[in-house]
Amino acid sequence: MEKTLVIFKPSAIDRRLVGRIISRIEDKGFVIAGLKMMQLTEELLREHYAHLVDKPFFPSIVESMTATPVIVGCLAGVEAVRVFREMTGVTNGRNAQPGTLRGDFCMSGQTNIVHASDSVENAKIEIARFFKDEEVFDYLPENVKSFYGDNEL
Ligand code: ADP
Repeated sequence: MEKTLVIFKPSAIDRRLVGRIISRIEDKGFVIAGLKMMQLTEELLREHYAHLVDKPFFPSIVESMTATPVIVGCLAGVEAVRVFREMTGVTNGRNAQPGTLRGDFCMSGQTNIVHASDSVENAKIEIARFFKDEEVFDYLPENVKSFYGDNEL
């Protein structure tokens, strides 16, 4: 199944939202293929947010993303990248639709609770950036078929 990367940002850790967000991820039907806590560094963020390194607010991103450890997760599902990206909502929580994670849990364009990979290509790069091969598990829980119709898996 397709895989995507989620990062529970320090804003989610700080506000103790991780359990509620994981519940929504599980309720939706994603399979958790990997999950761990780690401390991000400026070096890693320069790679992960390479498209933003030259922006005036990049130092502020580094400060907010290193404020506490984060939890990184690898989620598996059919069209996992697109589905989780839509579940996350647009960048600025004030503009994100109600029902999305950012729409329901934040008011900020920076401390916006979660990161979600934005393309299948980037998801592969990002999962490899944050996880060793042996930390991502290819398995299908017994009940995964109950989340999909015939021929969808
Ligand atoms: P997304 O996380 O929705 O894919 P981007 O890749 O554009 O969005 O930005 C990455 C992260 O950088 C955002 O989630 C947010 O935390 C931060 N960010 C983006 N734009 C701004 C901004 N104008 N001011 C402060 N932080 C920003």
